[in-house]
Formats: sequence, C-alpha cells, structure tokens
Amino acid sequence: MIIVMKPDHQPEDLRRLINRLEDLGLKTHLSKGEHRTLVGAIGDEGLLQEVPLESLPGVEKVMPILKPYKLVSREFKPEDTVIDVQGQQIGGKEIQMMAGPCAVESREVLEEIARALVPYGVKFLRGGAFKPRTSPYSFQGLGEKALKFLAAVREQTGMLVVTELMDPRDAVLVAKYADIIQIGTRNMQNFRLLTEVGNIDKPVILKRGMSATIKELLMSAEYIMSEGNHRVILCERGIRTFETETRNTLDISAIPLLKQLTHLPVIVDPSHAVGRADLVAPVSRAAIAAGADGLMVEVHVRPEEAWSDGPQSLRPQVFGKMMTELQKVAEAVGRTLSIQEDSDSRGDRTVAAG
Ligand code: PEP
Ligand code: MN
Repeated sequence: MIIVMKPDHQPEDLRRLINRLEDLGLKTHLSKGEHRTLVGAIGDEGLLQEVPLESLPGVEKVMPILKPYKLVSREFKPEDTVIDVQGQQIGGKEIQMMAGPCAVESREVLEEIARALVPYGVKFLRGGAFKPRTSPYSFQGLGEKALKFLAAVREQTGMLVVTELMDPRDAVLVAKYADIIQIGTRNMQNFRLLTEVGNIDKPVILKRGMSATIKELLMSAEYIMSEGNHRVILCERGIRTFETETRNTLDISAIPLLKQLTHLPVIVDPSHAVGRADLVAPVSRAAIAAGADGLMVEVHVRPEEAWSDGPQSLRPQVFGKMMTELQKVAEAVGRTLSIQEDSDSRGDRTVAAG
C-alpha cells in the first residue's frame, strides 16, 4: 500500500498516519521526494479495510502496490537507492568495480592480485572462501583461513571485501570479515539463507539464479528486505540457455528492466556470464551502456594456475586496458568510473606497510 500525502500536509499529519499504521502492525517506509511525500505500508493489508486512511488529514490518496514484491519495488520507493559501504557508494553516479580471484588460494596470491588492482582504482576485492562447486571432489575453498587472508589484504590495501556466504551456519563468521556478503546463483532461492542475511547489518549482493526469472530475483530480494536489511544489490550473472559456446547467456535486458522495476542498485558479473576471458571486456562495455551500477570481474595474476575459473579470469593488465574503455562508455552514459588509485588508499597502505 502506498499512501500519497497532499503537497501541503503538516508534519503532525505524517506522524499520525505512521503511528496509526504501525499500531496496526504494519511496517512503514517514508519516501520524501522533491514534489511528493509517500508512505509505504507493508503487512496484512486486510487490516486496513476498516480504516478510512483517505479521510485522515494530509492524505491525498491510497494506492495498492500491485506487484508481489513491495519493499523492492519502484512504486514503493521511486528514488534510486544508493548503498554506502564504508564510504563507497553503490548505485550513485559512480560505477563501482569489484575484482579479484574466483577463490582465495593463498595469502600471497591474493595479495599479488589485490596489489595489481589497486592502481586501477578498484575499491572492492572479491574472492571466495566457501566455493559452491558442482563436484564434491573440486576445491571447496579455504573457509575461515581465506576470510582471514581477505581481512589482512584489506588492512594492507584499504580495499573492501566481497565474499560469498553459502550456509546459514557460517553467517556470523562471514559477516565478521566481509564488507559485502555475496549470495551466489545457486542459493538465490535458499530462503533460510536469505532470511539470515536479512538480519545482518551488512550489504548483500544477491546474484540472479541461473534459471530464475526477474520476478523470482525480486521476490528473493524482498525476503532479505522484509527482515529489515535494505542494503541489497542485485547482480545479473548470466542465465542458462541452449547456447554452449558461452558458459551462460548474459541477459542484458535484465539491467534496464530491473532499473524500471526496482530502486535497488544493479551490478553485472560478466565473468560467470560468458565463462571466457576474451568476451569479458565487450560484455562489460555493454553492461555499463545498459545502465549497470557496477561490475564484478574475476582477475588472476596467473589465470593458467588458478584453482577455479582460470579460463574466464583476466590478467591485471588486460583488466586495466578494459577499465580505460569502460571509462569512455561510462562517460557517454552520464556516469563516472575512476581508473586511478586514490591518494587515500595509497596513504592507508603506506601506514600499514610501515
Ligand atoms: C562467484 O561469484 O564466485 C560465483 C560462484 O558466482 P555464481 O554464484 O554467479 O556462479
Ligand atoms: Mn568463479
């Protein structure tokens, strides 16, 4: 339910309305736009049948949210959500790059990769500690040891850590080390896990299930938000189609479509979408042109030695070249992309190294 306030409503009208809704057990969300103030009310709307909200002072009209997802929808919150992660904004004008290895392999290699990325202005280091592998015999990730390496490299470089959580039993552990918690494609509809991260005060990247519809992705985001965590970033990472030349098929239309349907930031993972390094740069350019707020890219100093996803990992120099191209695309669509190390992080590192 969306309640539109009259342009000349009084502060006490708003307070009275919100109190009334909350007394009925509904959750409210206030959205103050340039021209209009809206109050979103979520919960059992049947409770409102007897309450003539339209006759309350200051109320202009009451509109039902027709979509099955509520908190996530643009109707509920017309303005873009910008998520602050330790001072870095995701969903604003600046396009954010997240890069790093598929999996954390050792402290040395992680450090090497991170140090190669910092000069290109990358603020977020990705790396899996718990890996969702198709085969139980494949490398499953170093677990807490990897989380400690990520935290150590964060100390050294000032980069923020993005890492995947696969199991509700590891939620506290992962939240202790991560700046952003990633929910992978295979867990997009693990509702217990979604509920768990909904109760953690850390931003969440929710990756689209490889066979999930846009509506299902948004309903999964609703699970997280309905628990109280509103810092959700959606990630298109390719979907399964009949094509076998690429690992998945990047659904480029998902980006503008999600931007219409939701106020949440949308990022793209080109690496898992295509599964081959030579296609990562062109689809990344397309993703930014289509309106993505950021990219998450797999990078490795020696892809041929990577323990997982080597064929889709870029060498740092190739990544750097791509950044220069992406900056031009970003500017063409009215965005910014910083491709240089900022002096702050350099300062951090000097202190840490000293
Ligand atoms: C990943 O980003 O490490 C990953 C496993 O991706 P996805 O869940 O999209 O396959
Ligand atoms: Mn990977």
